[in-house]
Amino acid sequence: MTTALGMPAIRRDPAVAPSTAGRPDAAGLVDRFGRVARDLRVSITEKCSLRCTYCMPADGLPAIPRDDLLSAAEIARLVGIGWRSLGVKEVRFTGGEPLTRGDLVEIVRLSALAAPGIPLAMTTNGIGLDRRAAALREAGLTRVNVSLDTVDREHFSRLTRRDRLPAVLRGISAAHAAGFAPLKINAVLMRETLSDAPELLAWALAHGAQLRFIEQMPLDADEAWQRSEMVSAAELLDVLSSRFALTPIGRDDPSSPAEVWAVDGGPAQRGPATVGIIASVTRSFCEACDRTRITAEGTVRSCLFGDDETDLRGLLRAGATDDELADRWRAAMWGKQAGHGIGAAGFVRPVRSMGGIGG
Ligand code: SAM
Ligand code: SF4
Repeated sequence: MTTALGMPAIRRDPAVAPSTAGRPDAAGLVDRFGRVARDLRVSITEKCSLRCTYCMPADGLPAIPRDDLLSAAEIARLVGIGWRSLGVKEVRFTGGEPLTRGDLVEIVRLSALAAPGIPLAMTTNGIGLDRRAAALREAGLTRVNVSLDTVDREHFSRLTRRDRLPAVLRGISAAHAAGFAPLKINAVLMRETLSDAPELLAWALAHGAQLRFIEQMPLDADEAWQRSEMVSAAELLDVLSSRFALTPIGRDDPSSPAEVWAVDGGPAQRGPATVGIIASVTRSFCEACDRTRITAEGTVRSCLFGDDETDLRGLLRAGATDDELADRWRAAMWGKQAGHGIGAAGFVRPVRSMGGIGG
């Protein structure tokens, strides 16, 4: 088994900035296919407290030298530029595991100051959230998505290579108590936990959380993903339908990747009884993608599957103005590829795995 721990091609030299030939004089993050990126994902670390088999290698990713990580102030500056100059409407912190970063509260606080009023969200595995949920909310974090694939402790341990389910559940309770609502739960569809899906949905409904299943993408560091083995949205619907009556509702909004079903048979004690499915592989939504990504080392990544990254950290540390940084970011997004191409002839997996990109 090989492990993908390489680094993508990164454009560092301003002399080889991405081509903007044909780009209209637009302020926003437009690309050649008419899409406009407004949803910013910022990865803040490669470190993680879990080792999910669909994401991380068993030994974790190689550590990024501390000086190579963007600082809290640098992250906030880029968030501010995205919001003020580039039309970014929402920011999500991710990783690796954001809660492993000691200065997470500072990152949120400075970002909230740099982009007043913008929704600031975080995707997390929930471990350690019990100690920081209240401080994060106070600092300006507005939404939390917790990743949880099963409520079966043994299955959780096997999938994440860590026996930490109780810590995740404590984190979810703390997020509720701190007022993060609606709390969203993300679950990656895996064959070994497929039969746990109805129980996970019942658990989410009983706890007033909105559950969304995500088809597994070929972004695991171990490169074990196989199209023939992955669980599809259709297969999940069959399994859920054995316990719940599901009625399709459609997408929350056209750019939302999740298709939503009403769950009539669920024990909806709190919150709306719905379940979402993000069929990233079998019903790709690349044509409506509105995402732009900044990696923990400060490169712009226009697509999860595009290894061509453009460095902003070097420019930023060399004293570039906000306008210069915004221009480089725009140029990077103009080159965004049409789609992930999974299943197409000639598809090549990206060099980075999910934990190294920021999901
Ligand atoms: N550690 C945090 C967490 O797990 O929520 C944030 C980073 S994680 C990379 C972000 C999201 O990506 C999680 O919801 C995770 O389940 C999802 N993810 C990771 N690997 C994936 C894969 N191969 N396919 C689909 N989703 C994946
Ligand atoms: Fe860590 Fe999140 Fe990747 Fe799991 S999905 S290994 S929690 S970064």
